[in-house]
Amino acid sequence: MTQEKFLKDIHLLADFARCYCEGNHANASKESLSLELSYKGENLQERLELFLCQECKELFLYAHDRLQACPHEEKPRCRQCPHPCYEREWWKRMAKMMRYSGIRLGFSKLKEKIAQKFR
Ligand SMILES: [Zn+2]
Repeated sequence: MTQEKFLKDIHLLADFARCYCEGNHANASKESLSLELSYKGENLQERLELFLCQECKELFLYAHDRLQACPHEEKPRCRQCPHPCYEREWWKRMAKMMRYSGIRLGFSKLKEKIAQKFR
């Protein structure tokens, strides 16, 4: 995929992770995460700042790594992917986060389209 698509997807993932963590782990201790974005070895000169609990941080980083490694031009829906890269357990966690945050963030057409990729 293009750098632009990668950035769009990763920012949306970050929004979803933030929303989910705020709503579900309000009392968990959180740590900040500052991620320098790169894609296919190229530094994208952009930083992502997140403040998440341990659990959400792990999930976000896992999704980030999978997205970086995605060999497809346009990320297909996980369910229809010929090379699913999420391990089952992680995929279930991701689907849950997407469902939760999707409803709360309000589904614009674009967000719906991207969120569906992870189900
Ligand atoms: Zn959390």
